[in-house]
Order: sequence, then C-alpha cells, then structure tokens
Amino acid sequence: MASDEDFKNDNINMAGDKKDKGCWDEDCDKKGGGPDHKHQEPLFNFNKGQFKFSIWYFVAALIIIMLINSFFTSNTSETVSFSSFKDLISNGTITEVQIGKDYYTGTAGSTGSIPGSQIQVYRTIPVDDPSFIPLLDSKGIKYSAASQRGNSLISMLLGWIIPFALIMVVWRFMFNKMGGSGAGVMSFGKNNAQLVAEGDTGTTFDDVAGADEAKEELVEVVDFLKTPRKYLDIGGKIPKGVLLVGSPGTGKTLLARAVAGSAGVPFFRLSGADFVEMFVGVGAARVRDLFKQAREKAPCIVFIDELDAIGKSRLNVAAGNDEREQTLNQLLVEMDGFSAKSGVIILGATNRPEVLDAALLRPGRFDRQVVVDKPDLAGREAILRIHATDVKMGGDVNLTEIAKSTPGFVGADLANIINEGALLAVRAGRSEVLQEDLMEAIEKTMAGLQKRNRLINKKERKIVAYHETGHALTAAFTDGADPVQKISIIPRGIGALGYTLQTPTEDRFLMTKQELLGKIDVLLGGRAAEEIIFNEVSTGASNDITRATDIARSLITEYGMSDKFENMVLTKRSATFLGQESGMSQREYSETTQQYVDEEVAKIISGRYEQVVKLLKEKSAILESITAKLLEKETITSDEFTQMVGA
Ligand code: ADP
Ligand code: ZN
Ligand code: MG
Repeated sequence: MASDEDFKNDNINMAGDKKDKGCWDEDCDKKGGGPDHKHQEPLFNFNKGQFKFSIWYFVAALIIIMLINSFFTSNTSETVSFSSFKDLISNGTITEVQIGKDYYTGTAGSTGSIPGSQIQVYRTIPVDDPSFIPLLDSKGIKYSAASQRGNSLISMLLGWIIPFALIMVVWRFMFNKMGGSGAGVMSFGKNNAQLVAEGDTGTTFDDVAGADEAKEELVEVVDFLKTPRKYLDIGGKIPKGVLLVGSPGTGKTLLARAVAGSAGVPFFRLSGADFVEMFVGVGAARVRDLFKQAREKAPCIVFIDELDAIGKSRLNVAAGNDEREQTLNQLLVEMDGFSAKSGVIILGATNRPEVLDAALLRPGRFDRQVVVDKPDLAGREAILRIHATDVKMGGDVNLTEIAKSTPGFVGADLANIINEGALLAVRAGRSEVLQEDLMEAIEKTMAGLQKRNRLINKKERKIVAYHETGHALTAAFTDGADPVQKISIIPRGIGALGYTLQTPTEDRFLMTKQELLGKIDVLLGGRAAEEIIFNEVSTGASNDITRATDIARSLITEYGMSDKFENMVLTKRSATFLGQESGMSQREYSETTQQYVDEEVAKIISGRYEQVVKLLKEKSAILESITAKLLEKETITSDEFTQMVGA
C-alpha cells in the first residue's frame, strides 16, 4: 500500500547515484533542449498580431475601393449590340464614347454632371467598322481611347485580389473549425489575449483550504515577489520554477490564482494545451513570445497549467511529436535564459508528474515541487465552510458530519456537493439547504467517483491504516531509523493508498549494517501489523517486500556483510552508461553460492519479520490508538505521533 511514497527519502543507493543522474539529464539536454539546438522558425510569425491587422485593413480597403469605383462610374450599365450602339449615337443619346480594345463604352448625358447622379452607360463589343469614327465626328461626339490604367486596376482587382481574399477567408474558416475551441492556428491574436494579467482576480489564500503545506510554500513565493530585496540581500536563492503536483481538483489552479491575487504583480496564465498547435513552430513561437512579455513586465508570474501537455518525456514518446518537442525545448531554453534575480517566477501545475521530461525538473527549471495533497478531515471541513458561505444553509447543517462522510474527496468534489445540495433544495421547493440535501448530493457524487476508482472502501481503509501505523511504530522503536514526519491514509499518486514519510535527520552516504537491517524492519512493519490484526496479509505490501528483499540481497552480495562471505563482493555491477544501470549484474559465483545467497536472504527477512511482529505485539495498545486516530483524522503529524508514542 505504501508503495511509491513510502520512505521517500531513502538513501540506500549510496554515493555516486546523484551525480550520475545529473549526467543523464545533461545528455537529454544536449540532445534536445540545449541552446545550441536549432529550432525551426515559423514561416510567419502569426502570433504577433500584425498579420491579423493587415488582413482586415486589406479587406476594408478592398470594399472602399469597390464602393468608390461604383460611385464614380456607371450606376447603370447596359450591354447592347454594335448596331444599337450606333443607333444611340445617331439619335444623340450617347454624348461621349471611350474606345477601348475589348469594348466601346458610351456615356449618356452631360459629362460635367455632378458625381453620383444617375449616368446611363452603354457598352458594346466593337465590330471592325470603318464608318464608326466618321459617324462620331459627324455627330461632334467627344471620343477617346479608354484609359488602360483604370481597366488594369479593375482587372487586377477581379483577377487577383478578390480570389485571394476569398481563399484567405475560406482558409481561416477551415482552420478555426479544425482548431477546435478557438485555438486554431489562424487565430493569430489569441495568444496575446490569453496572457491575462490576473492581478486582481479577487482570489486570495483565504479561498484555499486544506492544502496547508502548499500554501506555506506559495506564501513565500508571494513574499519574494513583494520584497525581493529581503532575500537577495541575504544572498538567498529564489526558486525559478515551482511545480504544483496533485490529483485533479485539489486546487492547483486555485492556488496559482491566489498567488496572483496576493502578489499584486502581473500574472500570465496559459494552459499547456494552448501551446500545442498543428503547425510545427507555432507553439515554440508562443513560448518565446510569452517569455518576452514576461521579462518586460517583471516582476511577474507565469503560470503554465496542465504542464504535462507540453512537458511529456521525450524519451517515452515512441513516435516523436515534433511540435510538442519543439515547444518543450523552447520552454527549457527560455527557462535557462533568465536569472532567478530577474523577478520572473514560473508556476507550473500538473497531475501527472511522472510523465514529465526529466529536464524540466532539473535545478534551474522547476526546482521546487509542491505537492497539493487531497484534503484530510479537517481540510475537507474547511473547504466546505469556504464554499458554504455562498449558499443559504439551514440550521441543521453539520459540515463536520459532511466532511466525515467524504473521505477521498478533493476540493472540487466538495464544492460540487455544496452546489448540488443547493440545486436539490431548490428542486424540493425549499429556500435553504438542509443536511439531507447535502447527504443526497454526496451519494450522487460518490457514485461517479467510485466508477473512477478514486475511493477505497471501509475495510481497505482500515487495512491501510494499520499498515501505515505498523511502518511508523517500527520506525519509532528502531534505533537509527529516520524519524516519522507524517502518516497518511489519503491516497497519493498512483497505487499508493497511504504513506509514511520519514525525513532523514542528515544526509547520509554511508550506512552501517545495523541501519540497513533497521530499514528492512521498517519496511516489514506494514505487513507485520496487518498480520497481527487481521491474521492475514494483503498485496498492498508488495513494494515494501521488494525493497526489503533488495536490501537483504545487497547486504550479502554487494556489501560483504554475510557470515560466510564476509568482506567479499559476489556481484559486479556491469559498467553503467551515464548512470543508467544496465540492470544486469554479473554473477561471479557458483550455483552453491547462489543457493546460499537465497537461503541467507530468506533467513534475514524471516528473522527480522519475527522480531517486528514481536515488537508490534508488545506495542499493540499504541498500534490501536494511533490507528484509530489515523482513521479519524486521516493524517498524523510528527508532533502528534511523537506524543502518542510517548517517546
Ligand atoms: P486543479 O487545478 O487542481 O484541478 P482547481 O483549482 O481547478 O483544481 O479546483 C477546482 C475548483 O474546486 C476550484 O475552483 C474551487 O472551487 C474548488 N477547490 C479545489 N480545491 C480547493 C481548496 N483546497 N479549497 C477551496 N476550494 C477548492
Ligand atoms: Zn507499506
Ligand atoms: Mg487545474
């Protein structure tokens, strides 16, 4: 159960580990993200807004030209046969003739007429008639060759510009459709519009409850933006990027808005999806543009929501996505491009940190990660109180009760319950929300959540509680074990139904045999507690057991700590490439030795396990009381824990 999160600060893989990891990242960077990586410039810099302007001016100019044209020239024009044309000249209707190459144009009425008055124009296709000019002369009609210039303007208009304009309009329309919710490539001006300064969103930290640790970290960020001197004078390093990590609906976006609301600095908000475009280069151009603006407006905050949309690991994508990769590279380049002193702080939010590219998490980029946990009992009640202020509540409403009935719910779910309750009250014709409305709302929401597998049942919850308490208690009574920082039965991340956090008191690079055995004890504590209480064990401990076994094996084969092969290494790790373990360890010993190793591992594990079971049985009273508290409150802090253990 505790799997991924258990013993987060495990230092068992000793010296060298960190350095190697760094190298690997470095390599990633050179492959893609380094400044020397050439990125394609977009064909047009669409998002500058100029293009959009010119096209609309152009269309307007076109319409004006056409209007003027029709205004000054013919209001009514009629095409007639050549013989009729000649008749009109003969009878004096036509008073002026323009002789063009393709047609003759005759104008009725006086030439000096006021512009805009009705002018009748006749056109005809000319016939090679030698008597035509003499006819004009005899009638005293003014004639001239048609101005080729005027014609060429009109023909250019008809032949080129109008079709071109039409194509543009169709093009634009098509891409708008393809681009979905208005994020089409051709919506040039959009990007700028999304860079909203949300300095006065009205959201403050008071609107966020139940995410106290995340809040604390972010309050510090706000403080830096307000009084950077305080930090810089003392030589402190300000984080460049802060990544909010947490399940959907835990309030990451809300927290970012609260930062903006409290900091009183410009706040640029963009969602990762906004960057990912159809055309290679557009997303990268947007990132560039965004950071240019941010630098101009510093101090400010850039918030990239749903970072995973662009930040997916480049290694895990089978078929490379050029566009996303370029956008990500651009983001990395930009983040390297300014110093922490420049006053631009980047906030990121994601609910899938595990898919993020390692390069994003390197120092100098998102160097701080803030976990936004699902709220515990107290947190849920606080969140309910915040949202209840907007709704008329009846006298019988008991929010503590509601909080107790909603384990596993996140802030968004709770906000939804209040809202749903209000709707139910209205439907029942009441003017205020009653407890029964809220309970019904819980049931409705619960059904949906269960489908999405986000809630665990009561029995499992109990198992998790005993399991985690088992870890924590073993740690408390094992010499040299890292102190327990927090116990929680709130699911966190994938597959972890609960977790026990231990913080090492100091950085460790060396460990004694006794400490390694202590680690095994703590790992086995979870399952031991399960067995003591339920008389059976669950699959939840599989990760614990894997790690315990690994440590036991290393003790014998790598650290030379077994009785039979004291001070001997039995395996040799094959050469590593940039810190990546090839995963193959060469066996340099016989079958019999292998058998000895296996037996010895089994002996260590079972010996330790027995001891842990004995310990926990002795402490069963504390085990029960802590578990009860954990089931009630869902999280136990280090202070509470120390107090209860009485150590
Ligand atoms: P996320 O970005 O983590 O998915 P949001 O910030 O969009 O979650 O949360 C959605 C809504 O749920 C918020 O607008 C708010 O009304 C409510 N909410 C979520 N978490 C909290 C919280 N910790 N305190 C108060 N309201 C919350
Ligand atoms: Zn565990
Ligand atoms: Mg969000």
